[in-house]
Amino acid sequence: MPGLTPAQTRSLRDRFPGDGFTAVPEEMCAFGADASRLFEAPWAVVRPECEEQVVGLLTWAQDEGVPLFPRARGTNVVGACVPRGGGVVVSMLRMNRILQIDAEDFVAVVQPGVVTADLQAELGRRGLMYPPDPASVRISTIGGNVATCAGGMSAVKYGVTRDYVLGVRAVLPGGRVLHTGGRNHKNVVGLDLARLFVGSEGTLGLLTEITLKLLPKPEATASVLAGWPQTAGALAAAREIFAAGILPAAMEFMDHDVLSAVALVGEVPWPEGTGAALLLRLDGGREALAADLERLERVVRGTSPSFMRRGLGAQEEEPLWEVRRLINPASFKVAPDKLSDDITVPRSQVRETVEGIRRIAAESGLTVLVFGHLGDGNLHVNVMHDHAAGDGPRALQVKGRVLELVLSLGGTMSGEHGVGLTKFAQLEKQLSPLELELMRSIKKTFDPSGLLNPGKGY
Ligand SMILES: Cc1cc2nc3c(=O)[nH]c(=O)nc-3n(C[C@H](O)[C@H](O)[C@H](O)COP(=O)(O)OP(=O)(O)OC[C@H]3O[C@@H](n4cnc5c(N)ncnc54)[C@H](O)[C@@H]3O)c2cc1C
Repeated sequence: MPGLTPAQTRSLRDRFPGDGFTAVPEEMCAFGADASRLFEAPWAVVRPECEEQVVGLLTWAQDEGVPLFPRARGTNVVGACVPRGGGVVVSMLRMNRILQIDAEDFVAVVQPGVVTADLQAELGRRGLMYPPDPASVRISTIGGNVATCAGGMSAVKYGVTRDYVLGVRAVLPGGRVLHTGGRNHKNVVGLDLARLFVGSEGTLGLLTEITLKLLPKPEATASVLAGWPQTAGALAAAREIFAAGILPAAMEFMDHDVLSAVALVGEVPWPEGTGAALLLRLDGGREALAADLERLERVVRGTSPSFMRRGLGAQEEEPLWEVRRLINPASFKVAPDKLSDDITVPRSQVRETVEGIRRIAAESGLTVLVFGHLGDGNLHVNVMHDHAAGDGPRALQVKGRVLELVLSLGGTMSGEHGVGLTKFAQLEKQLSPLELELMRSIKKTFDPSGLLNPGKGY
């Protein structure tokens, strides 16, 4: 279909007055892309401010056969917002109110466009916590996090977005409003439709309200950064920490090439010859935390680290975590382009995965950065290359070999970023025909005409 007819344009303009509608190419430009850097021009962009407008829009889209592409901040890295094939982009950012925080029920009820860090800050002031902490926490929204099942560093202890969604309101294609789940922290009546929306990449309905489970905020935190001469030392230490019965609130891993890259952009605390590092965070009550920290340091010391540094409380911890934040900018000092994946393997397979990736990298002659959420087996793999120098095909080959390795070890091609457009072609390597058939028939049940974020996810 080439675009909207004049009558359709008029109808949308009436439904979304003022700057709630635009079809000006310059204004729509940013709405055709996301952090995947893929782009396709939208036919129009609308910005609903309330559920009623969303109901009207989905009814209209079904009647007119017009595809809709939901988006929030567009920080997903897999093309999940890109209006591939053409259609109307629906920006949910104007539905951005925290509707309720209930310290007795331990729930927050929010509209989808609330920025996750804003909710967390508000909760923190009340002694409450919403744990999922994607690195994009300051630039992404609850709606986007739910639709992608965002993870983060604290997943090792607290789980991912899925573990905190108790209920949703969603407008389904055709305009019906589904209110499912609610404020109960337990509920086993029927299938879990609320969580079906988690990770659905905007393909089943437009989320208009989300009820999240909360926890009490831990009184204190502490962090430890430690390094070992070899990768094996860091991986062995991770195993020892769990074996000692310690469950860190974060356990981040940085391999040798990552440490070298970070050293290119800033002062680093580790001595020369450090081959891999772990960055750990503990949280809990103040007194218990002091004892836990000592125990953690004792276990780490037992694995012969080449250095170890601690930070107690946000101010001291900050410089340690700055190292982790530098990885992304530092990677571009290694090479101008990257292919990045967020593979996940069972914890028992982490060592074999890291060694296998190193082998593949050495054979290819490209630098492959391996780092990330070691505690739950979720590793970021950045294949660094120079597209202009003709490295593109080699980088793609490395990416393909890494995927094969991960799947052969019982892993998954994505632990948190999702499928979107960029991993769609690889789906059949991981999912069985029956799994795909069931997923696609669920999609058909919600969206018989295939008009909501078509071509994404599964
Ligand atoms: C620097 C950086 C760091 C990142 N770190 C992490 C990380 O640590 N962990 C992680 O998991 N991800 C990470 N990401 C990826 C990204 O931030 C997440 O996928 C995030 O959840 C996307 O949120 P968003 O608000 O930007 O949503 P968008 O990217 O706008 O949308 C994401 C998906 O949600 C759908 N959607 C949005 N709103 C709605 C709605 N109201 N109803 C239905 N569907 C909707 C869209 O159609 C799309 O499929 C990172 C990205 C960047 C750029």
